[in-house]
Amino acid sequence: MFDSLQNRLSSVVKTLRGHARLTEDNIAEAMREVRMALLEADVALPVVKSFIADVKARAVGEEVMGSLSPGQAVIGVVHDELKKLMGAHNDALNLAAVPPAIVLMAGLQGAGKTTTTGKLAKRLKEESKKKVLVVSADVYRPAAIEQLKLLASQVGVEWFPSDPKQAPVDIARAALDHAKRHFFDVLIVDTAGRLAIDEAMMAEIKALHAALNPVETLFVVDAMQGQDAVNTAKAFSETLPLTGVILTKLDGDARGGAALSVRQVTGKPIKFVGVGEKVTGLEPFHPERMASRILG
Ligand code: GDP
Repeated sequence: MFDSLQNRLSSVVKTLRGHARLTEDNIAEAMREVRMALLEADVALPVVKSFIADVKARAVGEEVMGSLSPGQAVIGVVHDELKKLMGAHNDALNLAAVPPAIVLMAGLQGAGKTTTTGKLAKRLKEESKKKVLVVSADVYRPAAIEQLKLLASQVGVEWFPSDPKQAPVDIARAALDHAKRHFFDVLIVDTAGRLAIDEAMMAEIKALHAALNPVETLFVVDAMQGQDAVNTAKAFSETLPLTGVILTKLDGDARGGAALSVRQVTGKPIKFVGVGEKVTGLEPFHPERMASRILG
């Protein structure tokens, strides 16, 4: 039976309430509950382990052991660490670059890169009044290029035609040249994903990064990936100097554990969340809301 972290924590408080002092056993039991709840919220195991280790280190410390209500103090530590991990506030997109500011989209196939490129272009155009150019460097899937073209026309931004016979780096360079000559504020470069981590894909996106020197390199990841998100995030963050994360498909029934995993593994802020297939389905990330989602 699914039990939320909140419920589990309440039962921990009840168990611990009677104790003026906590024993190692009390704390171990509390940590078991926290561990179960995080795993149920789909947080990756290595992330759960390090989270528990942090909480435990603080829980056996003075602030909890010396507290008048140790149960509450443990809960306080859990909340606190969760917030710390999730980031204290929303991090906006950084476009502080000589125009055009380049945004590079990275992630596996199906993560939502192309859709998110369209959504982001719409936001930048409507809210920041930016002149946006989008281009697809996905030479393997002509359908992906067409999909971006369609999205660009839907949101009313310019789309740069890519020739699938060209190398991704050449396409991106041509788009950048066009953006410079026509005074675009932002160039968003959508890239080719693969179904799984693949060396050729990583080499390709690394080359794109080196050629473009983007001000934002955003890792797009599907929240439904749950436990697997951590390996994907690790591979991308080891290959690229990521500047932020976009967590997609949060309108589904994902518990949000991927947010915690990805945040911890990359150390980079989640900047936006995808909340629907439509071009309007992109929202700034709110750490507090995500913490509540994980807490259940
Ligand atoms: P890409 O291969 O990374 O470019 O992924 P796509 O942008 O083609 O998206 C893959 C699928 O996920 C498409 O069917 C999208 O409509 C869907 N998708 C993307 N973002 C979201 C989201 O936030 N919510 C939902 N429900 N679907 C999404």
